[in-house]
Amino acid sequence: MAWKQNRDQFMQGLVRRNQGETEFHQAVHEVFSDIFPYIQDKSIYRDAQILERMSEPDRIISFRVSWEDDGGNIRVNRGWRVQNNNAIGPYKGGLRFHPSVNQSILKFLAFEQTFKNSLTGLPMGSAKGGANFNPKGKSDREVMRFCQAFMSELRHYIGPNMDIPAGDIGVGAREIGFLYGQHKRLSKEFTGILTGKGMEFGGSLIRTEATGYGTVYLANHMLQSKGLSMEGKTVCISGSGNVAIYAAEKVNQLGGKVVTLSDSSGFIYDADGISEYKLGHIKTLKNIKRARISEYLDEFPQAKFYANQNPWSVPCDIALPCATQNEIDQSDAHTLLTNGCIAVAEGANMPTTLKGIQRFQEAKILFAPSKAANAGGVAISGLEMSQNSARISWKEAELQKLLFDIMEKIHSQCENYGRESKHYVNYIKGANIAGFIKVADAMLAYGVV
Ligand code: NDP
Repeated sequence: MAWKQNRDQFMQGLVRRNQGETEFHQAVHEVFSDIFPYIQDKSIYRDAQILERMSEPDRIISFRVSWEDDGGNIRVNRGWRVQNNNAIGPYKGGLRFHPSVNQSILKFLAFEQTFKNSLTGLPMGSAKGGANFNPKGKSDREVMRFCQAFMSELRHYIGPNMDIPAGDIGVGAREIGFLYGQHKRLSKEFTGILTGKGMEFGGSLIRTEATGYGTVYLANHMLQSKGLSMEGKTVCISGSGNVAIYAAEKVNQLGGKVVTLSDSSGFIYDADGISEYKLGHIKTLKNIKRARISEYLDEFPQAKFYANQNPWSVPCDIALPCATQNEIDQSDAHTLLTNGCIAVAEGANMPTTLKGIQRFQEAKILFAPSKAANAGGVAISGLEMSQNSARISWKEAELQKLLFDIMEKIHSQCENYGRESKHYVNYIKGANIAGFIKVADAMLAYGVV
């Protein structure tokens, strides 16, 4: 097929130009495998070299972050901001602090963000940033000094109409507070330059819950399209951070049973279900004590802990990967399918490898890719920006409804562009094409820029 040849040729060039950036290659390959056939008869996009332009970030900023630890030692990390595309709104995307952070990971995340932000229907461009800094094991003061040093440099490149970062792995409420405080100190301004802020200084209600809740709403919409629901379903969730915890909370609210959560040390399996009460304990463990998930067993000894394993061997109806990229590979996908899994919704960014996705697609189960499933977080961030600009705060019920409606619209866009037969919707294709059209058409309108 001509489009496959074109795609392969395109990918060869992309790999040559972006050597060693495997996560970035993977993300572009996944999206453009749907876009190449879509634009085959649409020369307007091909003539304007839209794919070449979309896969080249507008700019990448990289900087040194020097800070002092509690022992008086000077530490040096590397910080980045990848400003990918601002065709439909100011750059928007999270900051990740994790030792694994590198340019490839941030480029893949910024690229994915383009389509995700477009799917929300809100005017947001795409970016991602962070540092190879590990907040784990650092004191609050060390994290504060790091955040202050990081923002002292980043501040030159962000602004409420230019680029509005948010949190991601390793950047939660504490870090956002430190980052915002430093920006306010240096700029002498109180403006909406970050989202995910505390309620006391311009945050939005339900931002913390939005990504996890949204992922479960999307999973539920997929189930409902088949006449099913979350009620009574057994659900495996990975991670125990912001996304995982609130995904678990919403599953419980909709009548499902969550049996696993994890962190990078292993997973817990609680056959009785991780109820609302038990989740409350996990929130304290993770957010206040910054403890390991295994400490759940101190309080609930009937559960089991499996060290250095992911939870995909546990039989479930629904899997919600909510930890990190590439955490479900081909053999995990095979195990999930063999155990009867009927739906997967990606709370984390790109948690399934290309081969894992292929297995799910061959089995034609319900599969929601991250750019659709976890878009609820950035959607509420977009609404936080609106509230900051208008200097107002919306009520929780209004925001809950807006989140629900946005996830419903994302589901129907996926159906519109991804339906392949009466019984099968390819949600990846649907999300990729729907996200692409809006950004590509805006880029066409600007001419050659
Ligand atoms: P958190 O830092 O709050 O939690 C991350 C969780 O994943 C932790 O339990 C962490 O365990 C685990 N984890 C991280 N890396 C690994 C690894 N290599 N192997 C196994 N477990 C790991 O992050 P979030 O919950 O905010 O983010 C999770 C995912 O969701 C990411 O992919 C992020 O990009 C995505 N996302 C987040 C959004 C948000 O609103 N927060 C919005 C959209 C997407 P440990 O503590 O041991 O490291």
